[in-house]
Amino acid sequence: MSKSLPHRPLRPATLLVRGGTNRSNHAETSEALFLTSGFVYDSAEQAEATFTGAEQHYQYSRFGNPTVAMLEARLAALEGAEACRVTATGMAAVHAALLSHLKTGDRMVASRALFGSCHWIVSTLLPRYGIQTEFVDGTDLAQWESALSRPAALVLLETPSNPMLEMADLPAVAALAHQAGAIVVVDNVFATPLLQKPLTLGADVVVYSCTKHMDGQGRTLGGAVLGSKKWVDEVLQPFTRNTGPALSPFNAWVILKGLETLALRVNAMGRSAAAIADFLSERAEVDRVLYPFRADHPQHALAKRLMSGGGTVVTFDLAGGPGGAPGGAKEAAFRFCNALRIIDVSNNLGDAKSMVTHPATTTHMRIGAEERARLGITEGTIRLSVGLEDVADLIDDLAEALDSAGAIDSRAAE
Ligand SMILES: *Cc1c(COP(=O)(O)O)cnc(C)c1O
Repeated sequence: MSKSLPHRPLRPATLLVRGGTNRSNHAETSEALFLTSGFVYDSAEQAEATFTGAEQHYQYSRFGNPTVAMLEARLAALEGAEACRVTATGMAAVHAALLSHLKTGDRMVASRALFGSCHWIVSTLLPRYGIQTEFVDGTDLAQWESALSRPAALVLLETPSNPMLEMADLPAVAALAHQAGAIVVVDNVFATPLLQKPLTLGADVVVYSCTKHMDGQGRTLGGAVLGSKKWVDEVLQPFTRNTGPALSPFNAWVILKGLETLALRVNAMGRSAAAIADFLSERAEVDRVLYPFRADHPQHALAKRLMSGGGTVVTFDLAGGPGGAPGGAKEAAFRFCNALRIIDVSNNLGDAKSMVTHPATTTHMRIGAEERARLGITEGTIRLSVGLEDVADLIDDLAEALDSAGAIDSRAAE
């Protein structure tokens, strides 16, 4: 067995490497992979004692597994949360957080700018069970105030949001939510646990897609829900144990190894993202650049107050139509994406490989033109997830693609 970590508070980079590690009697260096669905007992008496709770013993990997438990302990330590449960995907995490807490007749308030599948759960699935949601513009405190002037059971928001990187005033929203009787669930994927700590800003529950920065190398799906021990034990855990969104031990192991380099990756990707945002803002083909730590971000001051870094995603609009690129903004955006030679066209983010997404025709296609307009997503909007390549190579790639996006005869030249 290993020595235990010192009791004094440890910094994130240390927790990412050391937090939650539970060595077996073989004293292995790397976290052991317990690729097992079940566990055996010394005796029938031990089995009975395990089931009554008199003895702590792993029973079945849908309930718990030593590799999965190491990931949960590491994430809880990093977040400063009392407890964590991990799930097979980020969506399983969001689904479990909502469905475990809500019941028929409950009312929810959510920011309009939600990840596509979160939007489907809230607007299509939950109403089937008699749970209604009022959507608000997450950046507009007056709308939160009005929606939360009536009792509510749960508030769901994403900040910074996908893809427009809008910030909600989390401490103010949380205070309103608590007055209305609601718990506050924050999807913190874009900030990562390193750049924003929702639990210290008033949130009750934080959810992640571990698929994004935590794995960060495109290998596995995963999700996490973090909150108080009481809520996790009494509300979330009975739901996850019995409905079975369990994360496989193998994927938990991959994510544990991903976490070891999370701080290095997020910091490097964030530095490159900031440099790329500055580069894009100088280009004539680009109408608008959104990056939370740039002074021209609409909620720059709020971003600086809530986050310790601007993040790894930059969103920008390519000019189209009159005065812009020929053929309209969508055509300019497609020409731009197709001309990239290093950066991939993908709908993923948080990866070591840089990726661009055209939200209007992919991730945000289903919500329709009217809702896109409300969110500020145009036909020229591009979301760029900045990876670990040399930033100079990324800027060269972007510059060449912008040249072709803006070029009048680019199609003739192909
Ligand atoms: C990716 C993502 C999810 C869903 O996670 P999966 O692992 O794909 O299920 C939820 N919220 C946000 C903000 C995301 O980026």
